[in-house]
Amino acid sequence: MSDTQYLYDMSEGNASMRTILGGKGANLAEMKRLGIPVPDGFTVSTAACVATMEAQGQWPERLWDDVLASLERLEERTGRTLGGAQAPLLLSVRSGAVHSMPGMMDTILNLGIGDETVEALGAESDNPRFAWDSYRRFLQMYGEVVEGVPPHLFEDELTSLKARRGVEQDTDLSTDDLKELVATFKDVSRRELGRDLPADPREQLRGAIDAVFRSWDTPRARVYRRANDIPDDLGTAVNVMQMVFGNRGDTSATGVCFTRNPSTGVHELYGEFLVNAQGEDVVAGIRTPRPLAEMEQVLPEAYTQLLQTMRDLESHYKDMQDIEFTVEEGTLYLLQTRSGKRTAAAALRVARDMVDEGVLTREEALHRVAPGQLDQLLHPAIDPDHGRSPITKGLPASPGAAVGALVFDADTAAAKGHAGEAVVLVRYETTPDDIHGVIGAQGVLTAHGGMTSHAAVVARGMGKPCVAGAQGIRINTADRTLTVGDRTFAEGEVITLDGSTGDVYGEALELVPPQINEDFSAIVGWSDEIRRLGVRANADTAEDAAKARELGAEGIGLCRTEHMFMAADRLPAVRDMILAESQEERAEALERILPMQQEDFEGIFTAMKGLPVTVRLLDPPLHEFLPDLVEQSLLVQRLELTGGDPDELSSARALLGQVKRLHEQNPMLGTRGCRLAMLYPEIPEMQTRAIIRAALAVREREGETVGVEIMIPLVAYASELKVQREIVERVVADELEAAGEQLDVTVGTMIELPRAAIVADQIAQHADFFSFGTNDLTQTGIGISRDDAEGGFLSAYVAEDVIPSNPFETIDKDGVGGLVQIGAERGRSAKSDLKLGVCGEHGGDPSSIALFEELGLTYVSCSPFRVPIARFAAARAVL
Ligand code: ADP
Ligand code: MG
Ligand code: MG
Repeated sequence: MSDTQYLYDMSEGNASMRTILGGKGANLAEMKRLGIPVPDGFTVSTAACVATMEAQGQWPERLWDDVLASLERLEERTGRTLGGAQAPLLLSVRSGAVHSMPGMMDTILNLGIGDETVEALGAESDNPRFAWDSYRRFLQMYGEVVEGVPPHLFEDELTSLKARRGVEQDTDLSTDDLKELVATFKDVSRRELGRDLPADPREQLRGAIDAVFRSWDTPRARVYRRANDIPDDLGTAVNVMQMVFGNRGDTSATGVCFTRNPSTGVHELYGEFLVNAQGEDVVAGIRTPRPLAEMEQVLPEAYTQLLQTMRDLESHYKDMQDIEFTVEEGTLYLLQTRSGKRTAAAALRVARDMVDEGVLTREEALHRVAPGQLDQLLHPAIDPDHGRSPITKGLPASPGAAVGALVFDADTAAAKGHAGEAVVLVRYETTPDDIHGVIGAQGVLTAHGGMTSHAAVVARGMGKPCVAGAQGIRINTADRTLTVGDRTFAEGEVITLDGSTGDVYGEALELVPPQINEDFSAIVGWSDEIRRLGVRANADTAEDAAKARELGAEGIGLCRTEHMFMAADRLPAVRDMILAESQEERAEALERILPMQQEDFEGIFTAMKGLPVTVRLLDPPLHEFLPDLVEQSLLVQRLELTGGDPDELSSARALLGQVKRLHEQNPMLGTRGCRLAMLYPEIPEMQTRAIIRAALAVREREGETVGVEIMIPLVAYASELKVQREIVERVVADELEAAGEQLDVTVGTMIELPRAAIVADQIAQHADFFSFGTNDLTQTGIGISRDDAEGGFLSAYVAEDVIPSNPFETIDKDGVGGLVQIGAERGRSAKSDLKLGVCGEHGGDPSSIALFEELGLTYVSCSPFRVPIARFAAARAVL
């Protein structure tokens, strides 16, 4: 380790070095390489930060010497000196992690300014105002970031000075005002710290680099990393660069732009700028900036050059870029470029357009979309026909609809959101410290800040609706109220945000299901050309089946039949079946259920138009069809006490007896699945009959041959499947003979118990297919009950990183995934053409799908709405 290189001059780097230089450093170096104007500098590598973290904050021995050597080289190249009384060099010290974390870590600007240099800087350009403005900014940032002085102490002084001078903007303060502010800021720090800030710029540099290292570990940075699945041990690089000054007067400016609209993906001008300002004013949302288009009038040459640079950068990176720039006295400098965070809709639009433009291949385009982004598009939107008027309007900073109760601070938003309440976070402006509240809220409304502020960038990246800079609202944080015009809303009142238009409504608006647009269909369509895994849907009704087909399902991988037993018109017959005293009585009740089941299957088969349908025979324990034990006992007691109708009482008692008889301590592991069918073979017989009759009727009527697959649940022993298969085959033969017809019917089983996975080779002797029921396999494989664990210890495990994720959402790769692997391998060892499906919720989860691809399964099956995501994720899994 001792010869690890910690310091890189900007000219040594390039875009491929982001693990060492961080994204910002690597891209700055790349821009420099491309001949784009970037202030010169050097980068302290992520390795230095990691080494420092590992040594509890102690820098590696030679790091400081290396920094000084790099600084010396920078001084030579620029012809300026840090802290010099002539031609002083001022520095920016910037964080820059491997994965961008907008605004989550720290930056110190104008470092190197002091009582002497401020004069030199002012004299050099004959612009003392700008020099003093830079000085007060430095004191504020250094005090806050490096020394931990509470930021509001500086803000309060600034606000009060502006009030005393009767001015609105920082830019309206005079040189003398700024001098006064510098003195005041020094006092603020002295009072807080009991000492002066270090005057030696080298010492400041060391403090600043160290503060950037430490900012990797702030609570907000951790929260952001957790929300974005970024590991905690990567560390940040530190970029030390020469300052360029957007606050050098009216021909100077600073801004942020995107090469395409990050909300919609449309290829159009999107950006903001501020004249006579430094970048923090824009990205931190301190002043609400002006639309970029206006820069054409103010700074025409820099504007033209910026547009050209935007085009160059986009075609170089072949991706939408998010760019920070500064104009110093008419000269343009680029300060950052990165792949732009975008909404889901924008991601699809950009990917599709870039294929049309010939920039990307379809495969590359698929890589530009994350499966979670498709998910976001499947969320509800505001009903376009709501006919209500907004109470106010802000900037459409991140699209989507948010309906929720007003809250005014991030902690409350986080707590309520965690408790499952829908809240909208309202802030004057959001700071990176609010990140946990943004995550907890349905949406964010701010009175202040622009569309390129960090708050907006982060909201878009997370798919959170955000309306920013709604200047018509007044927020009273003490009273916890929001006032618009003459209406005042208290905390807890519900509002609706439309992040696509910027409209804010003082009530809850109706939401409607999402519309799948052409971009979405195109991307998912390309996925179909690439993926190997089949995608089916879990559907129990004709409506779901139709939806599934519409969304591209290639069949039904799981049709549960219990809902067919639950419907109100069947429940009496089902209860009679359960309460039957004899086999004849039971058969009689089942006869009544048969035509209803047949009708259900006809609906599903018709909707699937000849695609395969896997019907799972009855799975839940019978008591689920009976009243609850406690309730039924109470009913009997009540009837006894009131001495009501004797007939009613006796039937209530009979039912109670049966409820007691069927009661189980642990129904999940009780008499369910094929165990039930082993006890009551009449049930699978009736179900098989209904399925075959339905299939024949639909074929007759629609002329489509249905792919009938009958699936036996909860098999642990090969002998269970053998018996059940015989029952099914016997009934199929009977029915076909009676009808004088032929029909292909396959019989398979769920693999949802560890024993079944282990003896899959034995089970496969009797199966045409397996379907891994990964929900139950997770419960039985890990030995946890989903209903008890989720919200209980499981959430704590995930929060404390005992396990990487909820195993009911993403399959436990090593454990439950291992059982799937064993089941698949052993099953295929006995029967090489065995079809292997998955029908748990994991069938719609992208990371689980990647595992199923790796294991060579035949298809996944998921809820109809997740079918497009599964199609896409299956393609991503083979790329
Ligand atoms: P963040 O991650 O918060 O965006 P940055 O490191 O990008 O942090 O810095 C914040 C802002 O500081 C930038 O938007 C830019 O405008 C300004 N800035 C950074 N480096 C310089 C520099 N060398 N000269 C002038 N301004 C700078
Ligand atoms: Mg930045
Ligand atoms: Mg199951």
